[in-house]
This record gives sequence, C-alpha cells and structure tokens, in this order.
Amino acid sequence: MADNYCSNCGENLNNAKFCPNCGTPVVQKGTQTEEQYFRTQSNAFNGTPPKQVKNKNLGCLVIALIIPIVLFVVLAYAGQSSFKDTASNHATTSQSSKVASVSPTGNSNDIVGAAIGITPENLLTVKDILNQCGVVPIKIKHDTLLDGYGNVGIKGYRIETNSVKNVCLYITPEETVSELRYSNDNMYENGKVVKTLDQIINQPDLELVGETKGVNNGYSLNIEGTIKNNTIMKYSYVQVTFGIYDNAGNKIGTAIDNINHLDKKEVWKFHAIGIVSGTGLKYKLDEISGF
Ligand SMILES: [Zn+2]
Repeated sequence: MADNYCSNCGENLNNAKFCPNCGTPVVQKGTQTEEQYFRTQSNAFNGTPPKQVKNKNLGCLVIALIIPIVLFVVLAYAGQSSFKDTASNHATTSQSSKVASVSPTGNSNDIVGAAIGITPENLLTVKDILNQCGVVPIKIKHDTLLDGYGNVGIKGYRIETNSVKNVCLYITPEETVSELRYSNDNMYENGKVVKTLDQIINQPDLELVGETKGVNNGYSLNIEGTIKNNTIMKYSYVQVTFGIYDNAGNKIGTAIDNINHLDKKEVWKFHAIGIVSGTGLKYKLDEISGF
C-alpha cells in the first residue's frame, strides 16, 4: 500500500478519508507533481497570499492584497475582543456550558457572515450550528480545495479557532450546512450535531462508547460493551480490563477481553469475562490498551 499525501499540506494521509492535519478531503487522482506540491504548501492556512506573483503591476497588487489583510486583522481583533467581553458577561449567568456561552447572533463579531455571504436568516442557522458544535471562529476563509465535496455546488470554508486550525465547513447552494468536520471526525452531518469540537479534540484513541452491561451469575462476571478506535490507524491488538469488587469494596479479580486487528474507526463489541464467585459484584474500567 503506497503512501499518499495531502494535496493541501503534504501530510502523509495513511489512507485516511480526510487529511488528519488540515481536513482536506482525499480525492483519488494522479500523483501530484512537485510543482503542485510546493504551490499548495505555500497556500497553507496562514492568511498569506501565494508567493508566485508574476505581474508588472506589482505595486497595485501588493496594495490590493495588503488592504484586505489589514482589514481582516482589524476585524478579527475587534471580533476577538468583543467575544471576550461577551464571554465574561455571560460567565456569571450561563449554565456553565462552554458550547452555549456564545451568543448565536454574534453581534459585531461577524467574520462568518463576511466570509460566507448568505442571507442573514440562513447565517443565523449556520452560526447556531457552529455554536452547538463549540466552534468559535477567529478566522474563516473560502478554500476551493474543499469545494464540491459531497455534492456539486457545495462551498468549503476553513475555520480557525483558538484551539485548532482547519475546521472544515461545507455550505450547500441552498445556504445550509451540509457538514462540519475536524480532521476525520464530523461534528455536524445529515442535519444534526453529532459531536462537539472539544469532544473530538479530547477523545481518547480507544474509547469506551455507550453503556456497559455486567451479568453476575454467582461464578463469573460477564461484561459487555463497545470500544471504538477513534484513530485512523489500524491496531494489531486491543485489550480491555475491568477490576471486579465485592460488596466491601475489595478488589477480587479482573475481567478481560482482547481482539486482534481493530481497523481505523472500527467499533469492537467486547465480552470481558472474570471468573469470580459471589453475587452483587461491582466492576470498573481499569484500562484499555492497544498497539
Ligand atoms: Zn492536509
């Protein structure tokens, strides 16, 4: 299996669907030329214009490029400080939810509106989705590399927040959000919020998802549940261990299960068994490990 590289940032894609570094969808096409590689490298999200400018009217171009940048910086700075004000005003009254702490209207902090250019009503919906997902843009810009992903006419935007670059937002021609993604994880898809940015950033590589169910029959404790490989790497081996406790809180044994080969994003339904006598036993996750 040959390595492939991101057309935007050059990251090794490791057969991922989206670049783990910048979120650009992987389009299977011919190998990129060296020239394309360096051209896209200089385009990486940093607000600087491409370097290869071949034009006699260099002065005009420089001025034309500087004005929007200066404006952008000024607006971004104004936006940031107004967000801080909003956040601290809310701090005393809000229900301590990070996601809900930003006003959906955004007030003067309208870098989203400036970048996307849709009707104010549809913009509110977009901002509401960003808020629900905990995405607070400090920069946002259109990126043609993201355009057309999933469907024709879809426009892709890169959002930078205080914690990450390259949140990818996709807007349909009907001015709705088709997808909001960070790296290889969706925050919003098929019309609903599925995860917040915080959840994606903080998620463990191997995650116990949903409820576990323990059945204690007097001579063993059988624990069922699911573990998800959140990474885009394949694990050769994964093991889960639970500690088993009696009514007095003493540890009396362990329940273990393991599996060979857990693929990227794959969910493992485990069945951990501990051979212990007694009833009314309790259990608690000790460790999920893998390599
Ligand atoms: Zn990339």
